[in-house]
Amino acid sequence: MPVVLYHPEYGAYAFDADHPFSPLRIEMVLDLLHEAGVPVELVAPESATQDELATVHDSAYLGAVADVSRSPADPRFEYGLGTQDNPMKAGMDLGAARIAGGTLTGARMIAEGKASKVLQMGGGLHHARAALASGFCLFNDLAIAIRDLTSRGLHVAYLDVDVHHGDGVQSIFFDDDHVLTLSLHESGEYLFPGSGWTHELGRGMGRGFKLNVPLEPFTEGDNYLEVLDMVAQPALEYFRPDVLVVQAGADAHFADPLADLLLTTQTYEALFRRILTYADRFSAGRLLLTLGGGYSLEATPRIWTILYLVLFGYPIFENLPAAWIERWRKELGPDPPRTLHDPPHPYETIPRREEINRHNRLMAQRLLDAVSMLWL
Ligand SMILES: [Zn+2]
Repeated sequence: MPVVLYHPEYGAYAFDADHPFSPLRIEMVLDLLHEAGVPVELVAPESATQDELATVHDSAYLGAVADVSRSPADPRFEYGLGTQDNPMKAGMDLGAARIAGGTLTGARMIAEGKASKVLQMGGGLHHARAALASGFCLFNDLAIAIRDLTSRGLHVAYLDVDVHHGDGVQSIFFDDDHVLTLSLHESGEYLFPGSGWTHELGRGMGRGFKLNVPLEPFTEGDNYLEVLDMVAQPALEYFRPDVLVVQAGADAHFADPLADLLLTTQTYEALFRRILTYADRFSAGRLLLTLGGGYSLEATPRIWTILYLVLFGYPIFENLPAAWIERWRKELGPDPPRTLHDPPHPYETIPRREEINRHNRLMAQRLLDAVSMLWL
């Protein structure tokens, strides 16, 4: 059975009440599974220690995070701490260390053969750098978990389907040939963090192991899945990872307020099924999934509920329990969803459809052409 990691202290990783990175998103998933009568067994991880955090983060940065978490009124802008994106609250470092500990626990369970599939019910803080908080991310739980795996000699493929480029993970392993990173995201021309181009292929030994597909705004689900297959299949076939790590952000959904892609919950279901197939075909079933971005409270809990159901092989129930809709009425908005999946044709037709599809295929092909020279 897959293992699900969660600790109530994850909720301490919260910004201001109106900040989009809300711990309510995960509470809503767990509550929806509960109301729908789906069995959920959670494993509570330890916090990451300072030594474990220091496998990725600079010690001066860790000191600054501790200082600002004690006195949030004294920001440290040189480390991105206390900025508009990363406002700091007392005790935030405890929540962030607990989340990092969760993702790390998942990696260790897989490396030690105690589990082959793990879902970390949080984390995916893919923008954090070695010495910089960025894009709502304080500690890079993904990089800490991946470093633990590579320190054991394992090869890790990292797939990032968050709508934003996974720049933090990419930069931390930019010259490492033990880590293949593949990020699909809305083009940096239009969206934070502004990076993730096809020419960012890695450096030194890592060259050819960092892959990016920047997608046009208004990319739809079918085209997204087509482009993902174009790149992920040959990349995983070539790299043959020991473990597949996936950041399963939900902000490529059409309802997301921060981005412009048009995935539906149906697309996400197909995407999660593909990810399981990739793991079974290319990493002997070893799969570590984290959550990530996803800022529509109406869509994100439904997407991650689908992730849970697909991972465990439970049937996808359709009608949302009335008690759940009632309890989260404020978060779900004036016209709450009634079903787990989106209604048919949930957004307006896009006039430039064929042009967008062609552009995305061209990006994927350009990337494949560039790396095929390096994969000989
Ligand atoms: Zn994101």
